[in-house]
Amino acid sequence: MTKAQRIGIMGGTFDPIHFGHLVTAEHAREAFKLDRVIFMPAGVPVMKKGRGVSDKEDRFHMVELATKQNPHFCVSRMELDRPGDTYTYDTLKELKGIYPDAKLFFITGADAIIDVLTWKNAEGIGKYASFIAATRPGYDIDEAEKKFKQVNFPVEICYLEIPALAISSSYMRDRVRAGNSIRYLTDAKVASYIHKHKLYRKH
Ligand code: NAP
Repeated sequence: MTKAQRIGIMGGTFDPIHFGHLVTAEHAREAFKLDRVIFMPAGVPVMKKGRGVSDKEDRFHMVELATKQNPHFCVSRMELDRPGDTYTYDTLKELKGIYPDAKLFFITGADAIIDVLTWKNAEGIGKYASFIAATRPGYDIDEAEKKFKQVNFPVEICYLEIPALAISSSYMRDRVRAGNSIRYLTDAKVASYIHKHKLYRKH
């Protein structure tokens, strides 16, 4: 009998991708014995409409550049090519259709997951995947767990502390805007892409 595949889905806006994201995916892969991690750049993040998110193709290319050295990583265009708003429920349902026997783990920032109760079909998400919530040092896990227990939320959520998540996309964007270096915060090819395409220069 073949062993069921364990697949991580790394969901995020990735505007831009940085070493915090890459370390998160690698540590989740190791800690949860994942066979691979699919990076899933969000198409139109519902909570970010009208907030000037960068072009989806730029975000996709940066994720591709940052992940191609790791044989366990790949990038999906599923959310980018799906018309309309991006909902994690739709993505996980579609992935479960493609990989019916696999165990799916949705990996993202704990600050995003804390709002999962407001997501589309929040209660239904648990039948497709477990969640891995990446936290920065000092994150109050007890507070988050209390919130989910209160409503008896039927989704398995595991926490993974990632010191490298002190880096954030907004910190990167602010540095570029101020004309400061982003060297050593992300893959050198991503930094070159940002400079070449003049991303994050304006407010
Ligand atoms: P966000 O609100 O921009 O991010 C919240 C925090 O989590 C930020 O500190 C962010 O840091 C961090 N983060 C985001 N993605 C991460 C990742 N993959 N690994 C580690 N840290 C991460 O979150 P978002 O990017 O919009 O959404 C995250 C995921 O949740 C996406 O896949 C999105 O589609 C999904 N989501 C779904 C719904 C829904 O279905 N209704 C609603 C909201 C979000 P950085 O800024 O440095 O990334």
